[in-house]
Amino acid sequence: MAKYLFVTGGVVSALGKGIASASLGTLLKARGLNVVLQKFDPYLNVDPGTMSPFQHGEVFVLDDGAECDLDLGHYERFTDTNLDQYNNLTSGRVYETILSNERKGEYLGRTVQVIPHVTDEIKHRITLPAERNPDIDIVITEIGGTVGDIESLPFLEAIRQFRLEMPWHDTASVHLTLVPYIPTAGEIKTKPTQHSVRELRGIGIQPDFLMCRTIKPIGDEARSKIALFCNLPKENVFDGTDARSIYEVPLNLRAQNFDGLLCKRFNLETEEPDMSAWERMVKVILNPTDTVRIAIVGKYVELKDAYKSIIESFVHAGIPNHVEVEQIWVDSEDLESSEIGERRLKEIFQDCHGILIPGGFGDRGIEGKISAIRYARQNKIPFFGICLGLQCAMIEIGRDLVNLEKACSAEFNPTGTNQVIHLMEEQKKIKNMGGTMRLGSWPCHLKPGSRAYHSYGELEINERHRHRYEVNNEFRARFEEAGVVFSGTSPDGDLVEIMELPTHPFFLSVQFHPELKSRPHRPHPLFRSFVAAAVDHQELQREEAARLAAEPAVERNDEDGAPNISRSEA
Ligand code: GLN
Repeated sequence: MAKYLFVTGGVVSALGKGIASASLGTLLKARGLNVVLQKFDPYLNVDPGTMSPFQHGEVFVLDDGAECDLDLGHYERFTDTNLDQYNNLTSGRVYETILSNERKGEYLGRTVQVIPHVTDEIKHRITLPAERNPDIDIVITEIGGTVGDIESLPFLEAIRQFRLEMPWHDTASVHLTLVPYIPTAGEIKTKPTQHSVRELRGIGIQPDFLMCRTIKPIGDEARSKIALFCNLPKENVFDGTDARSIYEVPLNLRAQNFDGLLCKRFNLETEEPDMSAWERMVKVILNPTDTVRIAIVGKYVELKDAYKSIIESFVHAGIPNHVEVEQIWVDSEDLESSEIGERRLKEIFQDCHGILIPGGFGDRGIEGKISAIRYARQNKIPFFGICLGLQCAMIEIGRDLVNLEKACSAEFNPTGTNQVIHLMEEQKKIKNMGGTMRLGSWPCHLKPGSRAYHSYGELEINERHRHRYEVNNEFRARFEEAGVVFSGTSPDGDLVEIMELPTHPFFLSVQFHPELKSRPHRPHPLFRSFVAAAVDHQELQREEAARLAAEPAVERNDEDGAPNISRSEA
């Protein structure tokens, strides 16, 4: 019999419920338990696949092609498991299922209502992971949004019923709240937490554990007060002070024995967890020996959540390279104006040790991305392109090295002549936007001897995708003549997955999204190699600077200052 843990949040959003849930999952897994995490989102979209990254942050994609909330990324990274489409549910999906059943006449003429039909469907989805895999010990279900939202009521009502129907030891509720610090009073305040718990109890859910998010440790007095007013034992009130790294959160909760108390609540006998490897990892993250700067040139740069997995992949790739990767966010539109030119590009990029172009949709800022790629290529700065980044690299090289005038992508120029990127055949007849891209895990063959092969160390890989356009095979031979190596393709050779320039220290781009598979203990090979190339580039820059400082001042051409050999090549 599985146990069920529910995680809700109150007072404000963005308290880090996803990280808290993932951290509890990590600790329970370290105790030898089989844990699965799922996210229930109260909004009416069927899935986040059609939502703007500006609104909702990154769309995380699973192996099976499900387009999910970004918290699924945290769950996978923290617990090192692969989730599937059943681990993310939205109100939209619940209603889609119910309305389709209703049309089929499955409710036998009864009035279809929130209670019991919607709540029954939610309860069914709570237990589904354990029904599909009887080895699961604990299902952690995180409820999106904040207690008090109208949309989340059916989910909370379903949890109330579920808890009533299950034995006491089989379910537990964790509630995250904000405990604000008021600087003028020099105090933390517990009232918002009291209100939030009152709201939750009003719905019929008494939380078993509270996690108080705060910038100052809550202290014994506040803890006692919260316990008293929120009707729970003092030791079940946890301090969730901001951590230095999200990977520190499991250790902070472990230090308060949150996992031990959870197991006690669930009546589970387990070993104490061995978190030593995790501790070593966090120590390396918190004590980098150096910093490299990577420019990320994109269009959603105001909202960092839009690039969550990329940011995390850099944290992971920094670990084996013993560096912190500082991200320099560049809005690609800022690189577009014609008067900016080479000088501005230099101003922005001269202190960077690598340039990354992430995925994206639509034509805004495309020319800026192409300028950034040209700058990286000509100045031998390590370059990594992801999905749209590969497509822009093809356009840049098409225009400059292959002599394809106005090389373009059909996405931005549907009538253009030299479409080096075009719509995939199977995409041409598709009309619906939701869930219709090339999605999920696809196999890829690597070319022996290529940089990609050296990074992965194997010839067969699988990576996750989310795109409609692809490299146009009509132009492939001409790109190869110009020095491009298509080092990864679909097994039949038909779809380009990776392209690289072997004459450059590191110029590699991929049609898939490597960031979705990076884990703290297993950094993605391409991110790892890219960061290593950035470290090399920085070292060459430093040597060059030292050489120039030692030399008597002579007039020199600035353009010659750029180093062009990577150490890792040697
Ligand atoms: N817009 C491009 C496509 O659909 C790239 C997508 C992406 O970067 N995820 O092919």
